[in-house]
Amino acid sequence: MKRALVCVILLAMPARSVASPQASRQAQGSRLPDDARVRAALDWFSPNISWVNDQQARITEIPAPPFQEAQRAGAVKELFAEAGLPAQIDKTGNVIAELRGVSEKEVVIVAAHLDTVFPAGTDVKVHREGSRMTAPGISDNGSGVAALLALAGAAQFAHLKPQRSILFVGDVGEEGEGNLRGMRALVDAYRSKLKAVVVLDGSGTDHVTTKALASRRLEALITGPGGHSWSDFGMPNPINALVRGSVRFINTKVPATPRTTFNIGQIEGGTSVNSVPHEARLKVDIRSESEDELTRLESALRECIAAGVRDETESARDRSKGKLEWKVELLGSRPGGELAADSALLAALRAADEFVGNQSRIERSSTDANIPLSMGIDAISIGVGGSGGGAHSLQEWYDSAGRETGLKRALLTIFGIAGLAEAKSR
Ligand SMILES: [Zn+2]
Repeated sequence: MKRALVCVILLAMPARSVASPQASRQAQGSRLPDDARVRAALDWFSPNISWVNDQQARITEIPAPPFQEAQRAGAVKELFAEAGLPAQIDKTGNVIAELRGVSEKEVVIVAAHLDTVFPAGTDVKVHREGSRMTAPGISDNGSGVAALLALAGAAQFAHLKPQRSILFVGDVGEEGEGNLRGMRALVDAYRSKLKAVVVLDGSGTDHVTTKALASRRLEALITGPGGHSWSDFGMPNPINALVRGSVRFINTKVPATPRTTFNIGQIEGGTSVNSVPHEARLKVDIRSESEDELTRLESALRECIAAGVRDETESARDRSKGKLEWKVELLGSRPGGELAADSALLAALRAADEFVGNQSRIERSSTDANIPLSMGIDAISIGVGGSGGGAHSLQEWYDSAGRETGLKRALLTIFGIAGLAEAKSR
């Protein structure tokens, strides 16, 4: 731990101001870009950008709706093998390629999620115009998966041998109801030797996510006997109850600090316009910088739905044909957490930023990094360069101009935290 810190601090500063003999010895080769192999890896990106773009298009055109990532995982496994790193698929569906370190006692996970938010049947054909590509999922997270392959490829090409093993992972279940199941399984499997997690998600180099935004997703369901719109008029109606409860809920006050948000994202129910529905449901996403606020909002939702059912029941003219039932279920929960400002991982990122001439701001967001951060394991989520927009929409785009900056930044960060073996031990 201490040794790693020293290494990373040295990376971030010129090699001269060194005190101890041990640190002095390390300083000789500890500025990563001074190593010929690292330079070879960094130089690999520019001439191979069109290959990286092609992989991104190829991967994006393989549909990967939530819980249906297997086909894309299979393709990524083959691409890892082509890059010279044999991969395996774990029982959760994650594709894992290992770059073995000098010591296998510690591992660094580099992960890009495979899944998209788009349902099966979405047209995922990639349209290309110069350096710009348009398709659902092209940036989130086609760019991350392509970067994962590029990083593995560059490391193999340059014979980079890390101190700690690096696991390059295409993971499942990041979006929506996937509830970070891929990352949960990874952290579970490697927890005892997990040094750090670097998440590659989306485009850009302008940010580093070190703070995990906590969120919960809930579903409210109200059911009743249902009936005919004319002959059964006056019986309690689940949609009415849901609407009454929703109106109460959206009037709930949330603080600006800690920032707290809610969104009714889906509402459905009923079978036809002339039937009293037998069920109604809604899905709500709540997010907050504070776990306490999340808990408060979750209880507010339960109270509001209960009150909506009560209001509807009280105003029903005919209660003889059955009553309403309700429940609120937790569909998913992403815990919060924060990376320490003096962590070795953040120092590695800052050193990489300095080398590529990049400046990035700290962000709070909901990503795969939530899981390790919530467990006190160092983790960040970064973009992989280039630019993009329209995430989660059918107009999503990615422009690869300048993407090598992001790839170099990621490579230096990863080897900054994993450490580089001395040339002779390769
Ligand atoms: Zn993403």
